[in-house]
Order: sequence, then structure tokens, then C-alpha cells
Amino acid sequence: RERVTNDFRIAVMAGDGIGQEVTPAALAVADAALAATGGVRLAREDAPAGAAHYQATGAAFPEASRAVCDSADAIYLGAMGLPSVRYADGTEIAPQLDLRFMYNLYAGVRPTRAIPGVKGTLADPRAAEIDFVIVRESTEGLFHSRGKGTVEDDETARETLQITRRVSERVFDFAFREAERRRAEGRPGRLTLIDKANVFTAFAFFRKVFDEVARRHPDVTADHLYVDAAALTMVAQPWRLDVTVTENMFGDILSDLAAGLVGGMGYAPSADIGDDRAVFQPAHGSAPDIAGTGKANPVAAILSAAMMLDWLGTRHGEPSAVEAGRRIGRAVDAAFAEGALVTCELGGSAGTRAVTDAVLAALA
Ligand code: ATP
Ligand code: MG
Repeated sequence: RERVTNDFRIAVMAGDGIGQEVTPAALAVADAALAATGGVRLAREDAPAGAAHYQATGAAFPEASRAVCDSADAIYLGAMGLPSVRYADGTEIAPQLDLRFMYNLYAGVRPTRAIPGVKGTLADPRAAEIDFVIVRESTEGLFHSRGKGTVEDDETARETLQITRRVSERVFDFAFREAERRRAEGRPGRLTLIDKANVFTAFAFFRKVFDEVARRHPDVTADHLYVDAAALTMVAQPWRLDVTVTENMFGDILSDLAAGLVGGMGYAPSADIGDDRAVFQPAHGSAPDIAGTGKANPVAAILSAAMMLDWLGTRHGEPSAVEAGRRIGRAVDAAFAEGALVTCELGGSAGTRAVTDAVLAALA
């Protein structure tokens, strides 16, 4: 899809709970980084959606918001869903999941990088070297069954796991390109498939397709880990990982584990990427327990905005936007480097405002 104006058109879905707080913080940082690198600006348009919107209007993802998303160059999402608000049939209000299916956002990208000065869970000094990516297939796998599971006679419940060649090939190709890109930046450039091929036919097939795709990317070292071993590696020696690719449900679980290693959900950015569309959002949810208190950590949201600038800049040939994304990463590092900035969820007193100000100051 071609860009219509010189600016990047961003559909902004701040959503629920702390989404409303971290979204403006992240976009302010993105604006400042773009202003510093010159050139492109963000033209934002609000796309209201989510649980609170459903409660107020009866529509969780109204047509007008969908139209804003349709015409945007990228979608930025804060967080959606509230445990207290559900559809009449009791299911979760999750327009962010609908977006994945609507726009075929098959690659969920979750970078995990230790920020020096932020206390993670591991005491080992090598924890400072943690820098890996989980690419999560986001449209099928165990989530294929979402909303379609059955319970027979109140005795047996079933869900279906689906792996298709077409979907697997495209997510593997994406992950190999990601490994190639990181190799060009001095990382090992290795891609690890995480599966359970020893037990399930579907995952044996998943692995077979992976090995076929690997032959098209001879410059990337490809290997495999069973998901149980991958969980152990992730907590015991996560610095050995580079790029990983996995099935939807495994990716869901391992990404939270990965976030925990480097400080928690407040530090975990993510992107959901398809062939020509992408949604960028912090990996955390709406955190209703701290919404409205000013305590939400905006780092995950800020780093997600940086991923958005990188994606937009790469896609549309705007190196200044790619540079702006890099600067955000460096500014976050600089803000935390001395160890004095400690976010609320890690026992400190820095909330949304203080962290955003520190990052903005580091950018300037
Ligand atoms: P979802 O179903 O959307 O994944 P969840 O139920 O897993 O959501 P989250 O909202 O992601 O829950 O967060 C779980 C808890 O972690 C929150 O209740 C909150 O205490 C904490 N948390 C999450 N995000 C942040 C943040 N940005 N800053 C501080 N604490 C956070
Ligand atoms: Mg969660």
C-alpha cells in the first residue's frame, strides 16, 4: 500500500485502562524523535475501540474506527479489554485480536532486550546480554480454535490445533528475514524453531516446513528446540538465543516469560505484522489495577512506537524514521543507565510522567 501524504498516517487506538495513559506518552516520544531526525511527521487520527467504548456505546470496534484503521499507514494500540466488561455471551472484548485476523497480521514480533540499569529476574551478569526476538505465528496454531471450542455433554471439551503450510511458510520467511537483518547489525543471525515435534503430528509438520524454508536462507543458522527445553533455556541461558519462531500459544506464553526476564510487562514492546499492515502495541494489557494512578510504566509503549517508526521508515524508504526509532532505543537506555530511574512496578517511584520526561530529556 502506498502512502497518501508525506506524513505517516497513524490510527491511534489508545483503548482501555493504562492504554489511555501510555499511548500519549509513547506518541510524544515518537514525535520528538522524528522532529530531531527531520522530515516525516505523524498525522494521528483516533480510532476509539475497546471495552470502555463498548460499555458507553454498545460497539467495541465501531465502523468509523475500522475506517480510520483501513486508511492508516500503521496502527498504534495502547491496550484493550477490561475484566469487568464482557460481551453479552460472556466472551472477552478484544478488538486487538480481531485486528490480527482482519488484516492477517501473522507475525507477532516480541523483542526482549535487557536495558542496563533495569533490574530483571536473573542474577547472572550475562543477563545484561539478553537480546532476542520471539516471532509468534499469530493467526492459527492453538488459537485457530478461538471461540470454536466445544463441550460435549458436560464431559469432554475439545479445541483444534491447526498448522497450515501457507501460514507457516510466510511466518518462517519473515523470521528468517528478521535473523538476516539482525545479522547485518552484528548479531549472530541464528533462527531457532520452538515446537513440540516429538509428540504432535502437527508440530512435526511445522518442523518439516521450517526445514524446507531454511534451505532458502542458507546464510542463517537454523536449529530447533522443543518448547519445554526452550522454556528452560529462556530462564537459564537466555543470552544464547537470537531469533526464535514459534506457534501461536507457545509464543503467547513464552513472550510473558521473556518479558519477566528484563523487568516485566512494562518493558515488553510488540508488533503484529502482516504483508502490508502492522499494529504496534505494548505486550501488556490494560492493567485496571493501576489505571488512573499514573504508575503505568510507558517503556513498553515507547519501544513499540520505536518499532513502528522502524517499520514505517523501512517500508517507505524514509531513513530518518528508522533513525528516529533507533534514537528512541538509545534514549531509553540513557534514561535508565545510572540506575536512579526505577519504575513503580519494580519498587521505585517513577511513573508514566517521570519515565516519559526522562526519555524525552535523553532524546534532546
Ligand atoms: P491481557 O489479558 O491483555 O494479556 P493481563 O490480564 O495479562 O492482560 P496485564 O494488563 O498485561 O494483564 O498486566 C498484568 C499486571 O501487570 C497488571 O495488572 C499490572 O499490575 C502489571 N502491569 C502490566 N503492564 C504494566 C505497566 N505498563 N506498568 C506497570 N505495571 C504493569
Ligand atoms: Mg497477558
